[in-house]
Amino acid sequence: MSTPHFPAATILGYPRIGPNRELKKALDAHWAGNLDTAGLQSASRELQENTISRLTELGLSATDSSIPADFSLYDQVLDATVALGALPSRFADLAGPDGSIDTAGYFTLARGDAERQPLEMTKWFDTNYHYLVPEIGPRTTFAPLAHALTTLISEHRGAGRTLRPVLVGPVTYLLLAKAEDGAPAGFDPLERLDDVVAAYRGILAALADAGADWVQLDEPGLVTDRGAAHADIAERAYRSLLAADDAGTSYYGGRRPALLVTTGYGTAGDRDTPGEILGVLAELGVEAVHADLQRGAQPQAETLLRIGAFGTRFVAGIVDGRNIWRNDLSASLTTLQTLANTTTVPAVATTTSLFHVPHRLDVESSLPAGVADWLAFADEKTSEVLTLARGLAEGAEAIRTQLEAATAARTARAQGTGVHLDAVKARTSALAPTDFERGDADERAQAQRERLSLPLLPTTTIGSFPQTTEVRTARAAVRKGTLSESEYQQFLRAEIARVIELQEDIGLDVLVHGEAERNDMVQYFAENMDGFSATEHGWVQSYGSRCTRPSILWGDVTRPKAITVEWTSYAQSLTAHPVKGMLTGPVTILAWSFVRDDQPLAETANQVALALREEIADLEAAGTAIIQVDEPALRELLPLRASDQDAYLAWAVSAFRLATSGVRQATQIHTHLCYSEFGEVISAIDGLDADVTSLEAARSRLEVVADLAGFGYRRGIGPGVYDIHSPRVPTEEEIAGLIGTALQGLDASRLWINPDCGLKTRGYTETEESLRHLVAAARAARTGLTAGEPVGVTGA
Ligand code: GLN
Ligand code: ZN
Repeated sequence: MSTPHFPAATILGYPRIGPNRELKKALDAHWAGNLDTAGLQSASRELQENTISRLTELGLSATDSSIPADFSLYDQVLDATVALGALPSRFADLAGPDGSIDTAGYFTLARGDAERQPLEMTKWFDTNYHYLVPEIGPRTTFAPLAHALTTLISEHRGAGRTLRPVLVGPVTYLLLAKAEDGAPAGFDPLERLDDVVAAYRGILAALADAGADWVQLDEPGLVTDRGAAHADIAERAYRSLLAADDAGTSYYGGRRPALLVTTGYGTAGDRDTPGEILGVLAELGVEAVHADLQRGAQPQAETLLRIGAFGTRFVAGIVDGRNIWRNDLSASLTTLQTLANTTTVPAVATTTSLFHVPHRLDVESSLPAGVADWLAFADEKTSEVLTLARGLAEGAEAIRTQLEAATAARTARAQGTGVHLDAVKARTSALAPTDFERGDADERAQAQRERLSLPLLPTTTIGSFPQTTEVRTARAAVRKGTLSESEYQQFLRAEIARVIELQEDIGLDVLVHGEAERNDMVQYFAENMDGFSATEHGWVQSYGSRCTRPSILWGDVTRPKAITVEWTSYAQSLTAHPVKGMLTGPVTILAWSFVRDDQPLAETANQVALALREEIADLEAAGTAIIQVDEPALRELLPLRASDQDAYLAWAVSAFRLATSGVRQATQIHTHLCYSEFGEVISAIDGLDADVTSLEAARSRLEVVADLAGFGYRRGIGPGVYDIHSPRVPTEEEIAGLIGTALQGLDASRLWINPDCGLKTRGYTETEESLRHLVAAARAARTGLTAGEPVGVTGA
């Protein structure tokens, strides 16, 4: 079997959502019952066709495996679960006789139904993308069921195209999995490695039959500490994946696709010997191995030689798949040439899939003069890869124009207006330790109790209320100019009044104004601070059909005027209950924007924190007694390696404290975090020193309570008891059960009752019903707890 040639230039993946969010629109229509399965499939096929023609137009070939087939209707990890038939037992009835499931079943795994919780969702490495967590137990079945992918590949082959199918690799799949409920204590999904690998062998065989020359197995799990510690598992997995059977023929009947193993997001394996694991894979017979040369370290020369010696292609991930800055083409070309001199000529690639960045830059017309020239989105990055491959093959002269343009853009950026402002840098360098301190937490709690008089187990929400069509339409209209600014203000006031009235009717204790004026919480602050720019079409998939439009933070940050005070004060004027002021924290603003790479993140974070500190001072002066500063992304930016985490947490925690430490003791600071793997950052959360913290917990059925109890967490805490990531309405009994679980591990005097996250993406019907159940369950628990004790007085 001779190895097919690996293309000189490739990308590891491409945005799946569509330049006009075609996938999102088709999914939403399908779920709303307005597009049947066949319609959804054809919309998805059309989008795939457009992607292939666009990539071909840019210069990738559709016949040499350089175009990845990484299409997904929802999530690539869910696709792997389905391709392996690894259904958790609560979904077993969705499977047909051969173990496969249909499109409806696929979405049931992703979104749940009336009886079943969907798969848990969690962040993909240190990014803002969410994947669906596989649940693996000792009895999970595995079978090669990648029919959708093999059919796709063979249809393309029939049309004369050879695409490169992409799958999450077996090691990463199991590293990302969690033990299924009911698995014996201590069970590790990695124990099922051999069975999973057997199913992958079947999938590879089917892909070879379908006409795939190369298959890409993504193994970013190897760049984490756990992955690095289990390098032996990776070795075992790939040895078995590539092995011949007893008769000496390969498992693939003499034909299997060649394998590309990718390791984006960091350094694969042991960082003292970067990339060594890639050498091991090469020796086992993996035909191409990829390393991330931006976030990760370049493999040592020794390893590169070893890779070359086994005839394995080294695929250099040199164009960053995660940021939007133009590549320093000259520096990259030098790196590639050095690699080529060390061993064989590398293939040029992106560091990761490009699904973390928007589709294309040329449709953006509102970026400030100059800024656009500093950027590269997915299409421009694809061109950069092709340019570098050409420069590597033909020499720098062949790409002189592109090299010069890239260098000129870098110079212009360094000197750009607003990029470096002395006044801003003077403020961050003058900060003193007292700017980060609020004083004793217990004294604060006492002062706040006196000021707020809240009942036991106070109920609240996380901030946003459903964004109805009317809200979106009004926002679009004011942007287009068809609605006047004053009409829009009027509209927002009416919306706030409606939401306040609803919350009073439901019986919540701490109210919110509903955030109707915000499209995206980070974008909203970015639009109201200097140093940021928003894109018009720069949508990036966050999960399933959900997209965000990250802002671009390119300059020193300032707040020209108060941002939220008017809305919060208006809401407060309508009710006697406290209304929370609602802000987004500095770490999250960084995490959900594309952030400048020309100064330390800590400096940028402090600039944002100072702008927020001014906003908080204004809210406090206007009489706001509770101010929530959301940091849902605190954990997301957490470095993948423990040895890097302390340095990150130090600046991240400091920035939050800098933003929130200017207030009086009687002003209550809340924060909200969007995840449930709390254990690993609990001391950082403690370090935030917020008076009350709400977090996601319903999907994991409050696993977090044990972590909190074990840590001895002493401030206010609201583990979410209503999962807002699915349209399902929890029953009062269900919520009561979760409150009971929380009360087993936490002191009632510190427990808050709230949903998992904001309600923005939900509809009013399900939201209202769910919140009524939540309030009823909280009241029942309160009554149970306070029999004979005085209950705090609500303001109303
Ligand atoms: N306050 C925000 C909201 O309710 C928080 C959202 C988030 O943390 N993702 O929408
Ligand atoms: Zn959240």
